[in-house]
Amino acid sequence: MDNCLFCKIVRDEIPAKKIYEDNDLIAFNDINPAAPIHFLIIPRMHISSLVECEDSHQDLLGKMLLFAPKLAKEQGCTEGFRTIINTGRVGGQEVFHLHIHIIGGKERLPVMIHQG
Ligand code: AMP
Ligand code: ZN
Repeated sequence: MDNCLFCKIVRDEIPAKKIYEDNDLIAFNDINPAAPIHFLIIPRMHISSLVECEDSHQDLLGKMLLFAPKLAKEQGCTEGFRTIINTGRVGGQEVFHLHIHIIGGKERLPVMIHQG
């Protein structure tokens, strides 16, 4: 995907603070962190969002999710973290390349969604 921001990060066409990469995944720090630790895990392949995932992506999705706590711990999330996947307009997705946010630090995170 020529114009996809995260594909450009995958191809090293724009800089990012990469903290992990392998054949399937990369992880890098969010440019606008919501907490002391905030990074994104993305597949190398372009999938625009969770709603576009298919059965063929099952292993990749499993790998991303299983990898999240390992990297979170390595990055300093020793007592938990928040995992967010924003999907589509209602979900507030801004970059349409599938990504998992991992957000944490030493302090308890604020309540995510207020009701009423
Ligand atoms: P979302 O709303 O889930 O699509 O979130 C997209 C995230 O990507 C936001 O948290 C942005 O701060 C982050 N982001 C946008 N551009 C970059 C970039 N060049 N490097 C790192 N993170 C970015
Ligand atoms: Zn992409």
